[in-house]
Amino acid sequence: KKKILEVKNLRTYFYTHEGVVKAVDDVDFEIYEGETLGVVGESGCGKSMTSKSIMNLVPKPKGKLEPGSSIKYYGLDEVVDITSLSPRSKEMRSLRGNEMAMIFQEPMTSLNPVYTIGSQIIEAVRLHQGVSKEEAREIAIEMIRKVGIPAPEKRVDEYPFELSGGMRQRAMIAMALSCNPKFLIADEPTTALDVTVEAQILDLMQDLQDEFNTAIMFITHDLDVIGEIADRVMVMYTGKVVETASVDEIFYNPKHPYTKGLLSSIPKIGNKEELVPIEGTVPNLTELPKGCYFAPRCPHAMDICREKMPPTFDINEEHSVKCWLSEKEGGSMNEE
Ligand code: SF4
Ligand code: MG
Repeated sequence: KKKILEVKNLRTYFYTHEGVVKAVDDVDFEIYEGETLGVVGESGCGKSMTSKSIMNLVPKPKGKLEPGSSIKYYGLDEVVDITSLSPRSKEMRSLRGNEMAMIFQEPMTSLNPVYTIGSQIIEAVRLHQGVSKEEAREIAIEMIRKVGIPAPEKRVDEYPFELSGGMRQRAMIAMALSCNPKFLIADEPTTALDVTVEAQILDLMQDLQDEFNTAIMFITHDLDVIGEIADRVMVMYTGKVVETASVDEIFYNPKHPYTKGLLSSIPKIGNKEELVPIEGTVPNLTELPKGCYFAPRCPHAMDICREKMPPTFDINEEHSVKCWLSEKEGGSMNEE
């Protein structure tokens, strides 16, 4: 399997009046061609800031990648460290436009208000699929249909403001998928959509992946969706990765008390409310407790947990857990 992305020692900090917010704090992971890595955790756990860091879209000047952070993208013909590119540089924009695509929750930031949605999708199609204007228009209409927008022949000539929020979201998804990206980051892409449209879009993403071997990083708080599309899962809490494993291991052999808490609160199919899965709340990121950040909410907290941050233990080749309990179970310490 070819590696697409390698993130090492990623620290994305925000310098605020209240203190330093460690939004992403020493995160390591990799993503391979053709796989879907699901990233889960409650709001504020660092999922979105991890994806923004990869796309080089961390809000400046407050947000900053700390020295030592590395994000290597294994592109079509070269390896680039994204942390060395300036956010607005030609290289970064070309990466974002050509090989990497993203779908965020807020569609207005990626749709240009002065162009029709059709012309924006057509532009993406022409750029990436090398077809004529007429063919590109047909493909765009088909794409608009595939993301579940009714009357695509009419919608293609409308402007973003003429569409409802949910339709804009779908138009943005159509645009991102039209680029046939090598690497797609989807950050809660379907949270605002109804379950039928959501299922349609997940199918579409999987078709794209099958056809182009796309690597997908799928960020969500919805474990149903994770179960449906992820190959591997990374669980985040307070800016740190607390557990990584194959999707089966996460569902049938979870180790971290936080992962277990998330799993025991899976909402019923079709219930889209974000519920508080575990008692207590995510601690204030400027006043983190000593030791394990989850200790104040953890039913298994031991003395050592309140004293020392647990290292990451490897349970097996593809399962690692940041919890002292896993040391007792014989996990081997991962020196990184
Ligand atoms: Fe709970 Fe301790 Fe594990 Fe933290 S290290 S999750 S407090 S058992
Ligand atoms: Mg859902």
